[in-house]
Amino acid sequence: MKGGPNNEEEDGLHFVLLPFMAQGHMIPMLDLAKLLSLRGASVSFITTPLNAARLRPSVDRAASVSPRPISLVELPFPSAAAGLPDACENVDELPSPDLGLPFIKSTKLLLGPSLHYLRHHHPPPSCVITDSFLPWAREIAREFGVPRLVFQGISCFSTLCIRNLREHGVLERAGSECERLVVPGIPHEVAIKKSQMPGTQFKDLRAEMREAEATADGVVVNSYEELEREYLNIFRATTGKKVWMVGPFSLANADEGDKIVRGKETSSEYQCMDWLERKEPKSVVYVSFGSIGRLSPPQTAELARALEGSGRDFIWVVKSWDGLPEEFKERPITERRMVIMGWAPQVAILSHRAVGGFVTHCGWNSTVEALCAGVPMVCWPLFAEQFFNERQVVDVLRVGVGVGVENPNGWAGEEAGELVKREAVEKALEEVMEGGAEGVGRRERARELGDMARMATEVGGSSFVNLTRLIDYVWKCESTKDVRES
Ligand code: UDP
Repeated sequence: MKGGPNNEEEDGLHFVLLPFMAQGHMIPMLDLAKLLSLRGASVSFITTPLNAARLRPSVDRAASVSPRPISLVELPFPSAAAGLPDACENVDELPSPDLGLPFIKSTKLLLGPSLHYLRHHHPPPSCVITDSFLPWAREIAREFGVPRLVFQGISCFSTLCIRNLREHGVLERAGSECERLVVPGIPHEVAIKKSQMPGTQFKDLRAEMREAEATADGVVVNSYEELEREYLNIFRATTGKKVWMVGPFSLANADEGDKIVRGKETSSEYQCMDWLERKEPKSVVYVSFGSIGRLSPPQTAELARALEGSGRDFIWVVKSWDGLPEEFKERPITERRMVIMGWAPQVAILSHRAVGGFVTHCGWNSTVEALCAGVPMVCWPLFAEQFFNERQVVDVLRVGVGVGVENPNGWAGEEAGELVKREAVEKALEEVMEGGAEGVGRRERARELGDMARMATEVGGSSFVNLTRLIDYVWKCESTKDVRES
């Protein structure tokens, strides 16, 4: 018989976390691993060598404050055998978005090695938390007879909008791609265009993911009750599932050093923080399209003109020099601009007092990180559920303005259609950075949501208590399992 909630040091719970190998999935899941290990649980974080190397600095830092270090389990990933380039272990290593689906499917190659590892290592799992992109991971929970929870990296709001549009037949009835679809069954008036709906491709995979979600024991969400309580209630009622809102996960990185190494270390980090130190409060615009998002070269050139034309200081994280003006390439860092190639310490940047606005692709992590920092947003969705996140930020939370993207861009600009014009970007920037009384209200609401996020994760806050409930649930399952087995 294992210890029990009050006897964790002896023989505690063992959570097995299986993240999908993309930065926007792995990073928040590692934050969750840190939260669980701070509560005394053992955590095995299953990933591949390249990803483990990226995460190691964060895991090492966490080890100095957690009662039990997180085990970073490195399983070789035979990417070449799956028809992918050699040593391709993360979505951001894929040479083309066409390889996205083969990459997701090839993650199943990790099932056998994961089972083998867990069969031969002690203690056995108490609970498996798996990314919704890895439906095959249910086999692991089944073999060990333990609960399986799905890690939901997007908001309850977006999940419900997508579900309701599908299940109420709105999508099927819609005619043209530009038809405006009003989302049924939610408390706010929200509409998007049919073309902005995610997931019309990947049909088989989506069906498998839905089945794995429907049969899971519960859902863990990177959000907090104060942000979207009414959507959480509808989500619970419609799915009948246990839902634990235990975020925002990014707040697991309270220390400046934790923020800097989160996700991936780069050479730009300290230079970038020094640059920010010289700036006035709330004067800098931070521009990033996430871990994989890329604009087409003409759109990049137009955005460069807008940023220059706005007269504001900015940090812009880019994935390629294509489309950038020559002077940006020659002098990426000046008093007015800092162009960072590849990766930036986003949470550290957003929480710096000098940052006053965020031009974002509205990935859910970026959205929540901006809320935590109280930074209003210019919304520039590119793909997936990002158009819903934009609606949540603009229409529901009222902490951002849309730049006016009509159609998805795809993650690397492969679907890019109409150009978002320089004037539209400058106007949105003006509204977010200044914007008169409305701008003040927007900033104030963002600040309040940030305060609520921090309170939620502090001892006694809603997310803190929800994590306690999740752990208690796993303890209960563990003790009934022990009784069954004895
Ligand atoms: N991120 C970062 N530095 C970068 C780009 C991204 O730290 O230069 C982090 C960001 O803070 C967030 C994650 O990567 O935690 C991206 O997730 P999101 O859901 O916003 O977008 P995705 O990359 O999945 O499209």
